[in-house]
Amino acid sequence: MELDALYQQVILDHYKNPHHKGALADLPAGTLKVHHVNPSCGDEVTLTLTLTGENVTDLTWDGVGCSISQASTSMMSDLVVGKELPEAFEILDQFSALMGSKGSESGDEEVLEDAISLAGVSKFPARVKCALLGWMAFKDAAIQARGEVNE
Ligand code: ZN
Repeated sequence: MELDALYQQVILDHYKNPHHKGALADLPAGTLKVHHVNPSCGDEVTLTLTLTGENVTDLTWDGVGCSISQASTSMMSDLVVGKELPEAFEILDQFSALMGSKGSESGDEEVLEDAISLAGVSKFPARVKCALLGWMAFKDAAIQARGEVNE
């Protein structure tokens, strides 16, 4: 129970003071922008991604919605900015697996850092979409950006 309270605090901190959230005006050339919605909850995330080669040099997002969707996007941003794409995708895979675990896994803190605080969400299928929204937006943007780089 104490751990749950601690996790709730981590989620609330990210919700109140989101990381990498900001205005999406003035986009530098080569920046990719995606907009993802979770209609079942009303969550929305718009995310911009700048890659330098395979490196996530910049990610900025803006959004509205429940605390889980917004906090999770903030946590995801912390984890992927500055990483190479293969490593970012590995983190994303681990988080997706955690969200699909129906409460049976607690997550690897070394890899997921603050995002392990969302482990309990996996017990609630309706909320898993909230937690995954920002991550799926990142994946979409990264795949698109990568495609443009390769062509
Ligand atoms: Zn939500």
